[in-house]
Formats: sequence, structure tokens, C-alpha cells
Amino acid sequence: MDALHEHFGFDSFKGNQEKIIKNILSGKDTFVIMPTGGGKSLCYQLPALMSPGVALIVSPLIALMKNQVDLVRSYSSKDNVAHFLNSTLTKAQIKKVRTDLQSGKTKMLYVAPETLTKQENIDFFKELEISFIAVDEAHCISEWGHDFRPEYRRLKEMIDMINDKLPIIALTATATPKVQSDIVKNLELRSPQIFISSFNRPNLYYEIRPKRKKDHTIKEIVKFIHLHKGKSGIIYTLNRKTTEELADMLVANGIKAVAYHAGLDATTRAQRQDMFLLEEVEVIVATIAFGMGIDKPDVRFVIHYNIPKSLENYYQETGRAGRDGLEGICVCFYSYEDVQKLEHLMRDKSLSEREMGAQLINETVAYAESAVCRRKVILHYFGEKYEGENCGKCDNCLNPKEKIEVKNRVVIALKA
Ligand code: ADP
Ligand code: MG
Ligand code: ZN
Repeated sequence: MDALHEHFGFDSFKGNQEKIIKNILSGKDTFVIMPTGGGKSLCYQLPALMSPGVALIVSPLIALMKNQVDLVRSYSSKDNVAHFLNSTLTKAQIKKVRTDLQSGKTKMLYVAPETLTKQENIDFFKELEISFIAVDEAHCISEWGHDFRPEYRRLKEMIDMINDKLPIIALTATATPKVQSDIVKNLELRSPQIFISSFNRPNLYYEIRPKRKKDHTIKEIVKFIHLHKGKSGIIYTLNRKTTEELADMLVANGIKAVAYHAGLDATTRAQRQDMFLLEEVEVIVATIAFGMGIDKPDVRFVIHYNIPKSLENYYQETGRAGRDGLEGICVCFYSYEDVQKLEHLMRDKSLSEREMGAQLINETVAYAESAVCRRKVILHYFGEKYEGENCGKCDNCLNPKEKIEVKNRVVIALKA
């Protein structure tokens, strides 16, 4: 508690933080499953500050890393308490980082998986006193996760080259049992203590709307945004072209909107992301390239123009709404054509990948067509039981259907 207060100025721990931190400080492998915004960073930052040596923190995105290091530094009077090491640094900057590490002043070092693939770094890390390894966004290890990164699969091998006795802390906001077991297996966690928090986001409202003709849908979206004038929202679409088209249509209707996708150059992407964060635009129309690590607390709505490829994706993407605990409206448009589009995107993949993809899509379709409480279905997907009868914050609870209408029931046939 003293350390929490001294280093972060907080008066109490959130959720399981205290138990998790005690477990890490006792030197055990730890697996933390906590929804976005739950406070995972502190779970490794505080023990890193309290332990001798430096903690290595593996993080998938370079942009995210800088953000995290800046945040840690803002809590501390010393800039060298945290550093990152990745391909964006100059030779001189790398030298400074290494000097700080050798002097023992640095308590946290954020690294990209690529950093660990370099032998010279491994050799350097071998000489340091390392307190533990934290693997953030650990779901990147699993192909069943929503953001698979092949480099993550080699992490354990690289960690072992540094020191195979180091405690490993894995953290993720992904709670599907498949992803969990992939993480434990791949990182070879040694009888880890697993901490799972509830995934319920009581402030989010979930709704599925049948998707009609394009013009009609756009009209519905424009109307929705006008009703929520001046509030920030994200619209997710399946492809790059649609983000541009839809953003243009919104602008034509007097809404400040920009498109965002991986086809834009890095400068434009960073610019548009900032415009959204600084509220120069109200709406960002994006592909799934937008979102990871974006910490805008007051996103008031997330609209899915196309049905996402998994329920896991849906949960993560809608999870960007209402991070401050206030209102968050999540509307997803659903049509049979969009399901076929998702299927089409998998056409060049291997049979096993298509099977995996089809299973995920079928689960999303079942969710969209279900007459059961949306929250119940989502939480069930994460292996959690929702105890309430009526959540009062989803379309099915607010407007119960007499019977399930099965229209265009989709069964995805696999062509071998
Ligand atoms: P996650 O990585 O789980 O998505 P973060 O680590 O980014 O979440 O934390 C989310 C927010 O919660 C941050 O703004 C952080 O400062 C805040 N936070 C974390 N722990 C506490 C605490 N014990 N008391 C108050 N705020 C906290
Ligand atoms: Mg995090
Ligand atoms: Zn409900």
C-alpha cells in the first residue's frame, strides 16, 4: 500500500491487483486475465519498482510502448526509471538506455519481440539483474486470439536464452479458454496462479440491427450520430474502401469524421488518431487496424457497419466504448451478405484456418440471431455465468422477442 501510494499516488488497489502483485513478488509465474481498462499495467509496474533489478516487459506495438514509458515517467521524478528498446531508437539513444540499465537505475524496460530476436541484446540482457519478464497482450501468442503475432510464439525460446529461471507474468484481456490454454502452454508457465476478473461491462449497451440497403444503413448511422451530437464514436467496417466511403458520406451530412486503415501512411494514421483523441473529429471510421492501446476514456459509441469475424473481436472493439464507466452504446449491423464477405476473405487460407475461421464466424452469427440477453451470451463465450435475468441494457432484454426468428440461417460450408 505504501509503495502504491508512493509511486502512483493511488489510495487503493483495483480488483485483484493486490493479490496479483503479492504473487509476482513471491517469484511465482502468474497469469492475469483482466478486461481492458482493468489496470493490468500496475500489476507489473509496482512489483518492478519494488524488486531488485529490472523487469523486462514485452509489448507488441512500438507506439504503445512509448505511450507506456511516458506514463510511467510521469509518475516518477526520474526519467531513467523506464525505457524502451526497439527499432525506432538511434545508436546514441540505445547507448544511453544500456548505460542506465547497467547502472541499475532502470526498473522497467519495454521491449518488442523483435528486440529479443537479436543475439547482441540477449547477450547484453544475460549480464543484467532481471527481476521478471512480463508478457503484455499475451493473447498475441494464440491463433485463436484476436491479434495473432507469430513473433510472440518464439518468446519462450528467447527468454530461456537469457535465463530459464526467470518468473514469467502473462497478461491479457482475452479470456476465451482456448486462448488461455495456448498462452500457458506456449510460455510454459510453471503451475501459474491464474487471476481472472469478471468481463462484464455493465455500462455498455448492446444492440443488433438488421442491415438493409446501403443507403438505408448510412441514413440510420447519420441519424444515430446526430442524436449523439458532439460525442466521440468509432465505426468499424470490414474493408479500407468502406472506411473512406462512409467517412465521406458522414462529412457530407455535416459530421466531422475521418477514415483510418492500414493502407494509409504512418504519418496520416498518427495525425488522424490524434484528431480523434483531441476531438477535432467526432467520429473515426476504421478497420480493425484502429484500436489496440487507444486509451480514450470517453468514447460514447461503437458502431459495427459489418459483423466482426469473431465474438472475441466484437468484445474487444466494443470494449473501447465507455472506458470511464459512463455511457457506451454498441450497435452492430447484421446481414447475411456480410457473413459471406467474411467467408470470402478466407478463401486463400488453408483448410484448417478456414475451419477455425468458420467456427468463429458461426459463433458470431449465433450471437446476432439469438433472442437471449446479449450480455449473457458474450459472458458465456468467456466462460463466465451472468447471474441476472434481465440486464436492462441490451436490445433483447429491453424488447424481448416472442420467438427467435431464423432468417437466412447461415451454415458455412467448407470447400476442401
Ligand atoms: P489495462 O492495461 O488493463 O487495459 P491500464 O493498466 O491501462 O489497463 O489501466 C487503466 C486505468 O486504470 C489507467 O488510467 C490507470 O492509471 C488506472 N488505474 C490502475 N490501477 C489503479 C488503481 N489502483 N487506482 C486507481 N486507478 C488505477
Ligand atoms: Mg494494457
Ligand atoms: Zn441483456
